[in-house]
Amino acid sequence: MAKKEILLVGAGLSGAVIGRRLAEAGHSVTIIDGRDHIGGNCHTARDADTGVLVHEYGPHIFHTDDDEVWDYVNGFATFMPYRNRVKTTAQGQVFSLPVNLHTINQFYGRTMGPTEARSFIETQADTTITDPQTFEEQALRFVGPDLYAAFFKGYTEKQWGCSPRDLPASILKRLPLRFNYDDNYFFHKHQGMPKDGYTPMITAILDHPSITVQLNTLYAPDMAANFAHVFWSGALDGYFGFELGRLGYRTLDFERFTHDGDYQGCAVMNYGDADVPHTRITEHKHFAPWESHDGSVCYREYSRAAGPDDIPYYPIRMVAEKELLAEYIDRAKATQGVTFVGRLGTYRYLDMDVTIREAMDTAAAYLAADASGDTLGAFHADPL
Ligand code: UDP
Repeated sequence: MAKKEILLVGAGLSGAVIGRRLAEAGHSVTIIDGRDHIGGNCHTARDADTGVLVHEYGPHIFHTDDDEVWDYVNGFATFMPYRNRVKTTAQGQVFSLPVNLHTINQFYGRTMGPTEARSFIETQADTTITDPQTFEEQALRFVGPDLYAAFFKGYTEKQWGCSPRDLPASILKRLPLRFNYDDNYFFHKHQGMPKDGYTPMITAILDHPSITVQLNTLYAPDMAANFAHVFWSGALDGYFGFELGRLGYRTLDFERFTHDGDYQGCAVMNYGDADVPHTRITEHKHFAPWESHDGSVCYREYSRAAGPDDIPYYPIRMVAEKELLAEYIDRAKATQGVTFVGRLGTYRYLDMDVTIREAMDTAAAYLAADASGDTLGAFHADPL
């Protein structure tokens, strides 16, 4: 295998993991990023005044069932035990999420056990819905109209800027419904937080003599000529200069405020009511319960449609966008010498662990194609 010059656009998780693998295999890797820091939206930084570790682009909690991914991240950071426990303020009370036996008993003023609660919720649920397609159908089928209205309808309208009738059921399927008192937000076998934050972890992944990182550097098409292959983790439509139109993204605005002491007693407080404009408040010091800080840094989070100059967070994937997306995917597949990776590059709602898994697989596929002498110009391992 001859050593190749590889360009990765974006120094987030995808770029770092692919870059590291290719560097370890003997290639020379250049990673560029338009921002002034690595880590993409996982970026963390310590607040100078309070010392609190801040998730600059909103909360990131690492959770996975994938042992290899878990071993991988533990090779680059010390992970501390962390359980994501989320509360929600709705209709004048604070409830436990994800919807569990405590939530159900509190909401209905009952003292049901697991079996009784399961039967009770089934009487609330719309059992005429046999194959839920939309977010709303999924909610009505599994929790019924009252819990849906309190916890999901308003929040989802604020988060996605559209009716839950226009969103896929898959978004709600991210959340468990439990008939016991387990309030762990996730159901994965591994869960934790990197002790010093995600940016030091990604710095460690990038720390290899064959990796060069250039920040504040935007991609220009003429750069590709200097490289054997390009891995693109920027926006899929952005690669093509938005020629066919723009894919829809949600962006987030964070209203930062500080507080002496403990502001809300937990890391994440959601706001389910439609008339409260923010979706949630995160109090960052609670993401690092092993640390102790007098002061506190909080983000009040608002979601809105991303404009051309905004940072894209969530790909929307509305039904109406399917055609445009398909056209971009066709173009991407026809583009020689470029592999599209990650949340933005493949326009999918990816968790961090899936991003890392796909990056490891993409790097392995590239190396296999390279070793077998395939024409790398036509190489495509992107999960498009
Ligand atoms: N959701 C909701 N109410 C909540 C929390 C979540 O309706 O209190 C919905 C919302 O549509 C959200 C989806 O469930 O987009 C998935 O939630 P998750 O917590 O996974 O969202 P993320 O943290 O990725 O924004």
